[in-house]
Amino acid sequence: MSAQTSARPQLAHLTAQLDELRRLGTFFKLRQLDDIQGPVCTYDGRKVINLASNNYLGLCNHPKLEEAAHRAITEHGVGSGAVRTIAGTMKIHMELEEKIAAFKNVEACVVFQSGFTANAGTVSSILGKEDFILSDELNHASIIDGARLSRAKIKVFRHKDVAHCEELLKEIENEPGKKLIITDGVFSMDGDIGPVDQLAKLAEKYGAIMMVDDAHASGVLGRNGRGSVDHFNMHGMVDVQVGTLSKAIGALGGYVCGSRDLIDFLYHRARPFLFSTSHPPSVAATCIAAFDILENEPERIERLWDNTRYFKQQLADAGFDIGGRSTPASETPIIPIILGEGRKTMDFSRELFAQGVMATGIAFPTVPEGKARIRIIMTSEHTRAELDQALEVLTSTAKRMAIL
Ligand SMILES: *Cc1c(COP(=O)(O)O)cnc(C)c1O
Repeated sequence: MSAQTSARPQLAHLTAQLDELRRLGTFFKLRQLDDIQGPVCTYDGRKVINLASNNYLGLCNHPKLEEAAHRAITEHGVGSGAVRTIAGTMKIHMELEEKIAAFKNVEACVVFQSGFTANAGTVSSILGKEDFILSDELNHASIIDGARLSRAKIKVFRHKDVAHCEELLKEIENEPGKKLIITDGVFSMDGDIGPVDQLAKLAEKYGAIMMVDDAHASGVLGRNGRGSVDHFNMHGMVDVQVGTLSKAIGALGGYVCGSRDLIDFLYHRARPFLFSTSHPPSVAATCIAAFDILENEPERIERLWDNTRYFKQQLADAGFDIGGRSTPASETPIIPIILGEGRKTMDFSRELFAQGVMATGIAFPTVPEGKARIRIIMTSEHTRAELDQALEVLTSTAKRMAIL
């Protein structure tokens, strides 16, 4: 058979939808990283200051993590060979789970292939169709997918609106089903912090299960990056804590922390755990080394927050809308620059790239219509000189494009 050269008519509806994206100016090509994920790196052959990655602490290429990965490959090979429940649980997988559980101050932990599968696999398995999920309207897609898979009834409360959440809880107070309150610890598009403390108290009052998705809080919030539960000092009040190993931790994976029974239950029932192969041993080793760094090099997290405070102040002084007017105010190293219109935002992002700054444009449907933005994520590894250079490009480009 000859190679396929053009789309067959069976998929013409996809081509039509892509044409529509092109018309709206939101069609994108994937940018290709030519070297390593760093504060300055090369995408599509162009050297840029990178303000777009989730590599908060620069761990993607930390020598100790690389060394741990190399050693694991030499000792254990490159693949695990099976799903965890069949033959694919290696000693190093168990070591990582014990390491995370101790770090998070909980009884037990289970690691999934990604944060996405951790959320989707957990929400879908701990609830059934008689149950209720109370979910912040800006929660991550993986929570929404997990909620749908569970077939539980989904009640969406207004962003961070604890009173609205309570109203919804009251409506279903006498229903027999279980109730789960779920929020992101840090919201990925605005960088604001979920009201974990108040929601956990609400969960306590109504006998609901409390769950937090700490993907952007892992390694960023709390002592040594222990997350939002530690940030609010709500230890013991949150039943299910999800985190990611793919962002600040610098590798790949997701985890769930909680009681021994919760974790044993997920071992038996979470579908991505049961039906998808476990991490290569090098990934587990990398993550173990990353938690050692969090414990031993807290100065990385301090640098991250120093850079964040500096950059936010400079952007605000320059006159950018960095949230807090028509959108929630950022409280973390995620810094949005709100432009509003999708096409203008994408054009600004492309122009910044041409001038040597990588900052991703995000438009509808990822954020609400009329709230398109450039999203900046600060890291501990950017130098002041790099940040000043990025600021200069941001302001001069914005002035040229009549954004400032
Ligand atoms: C990134 C993200 C995830 C998914 O994590 P991965 O490890 O990349 O799959 C889940 N929840 C939130 C809030 C996220 O930002």
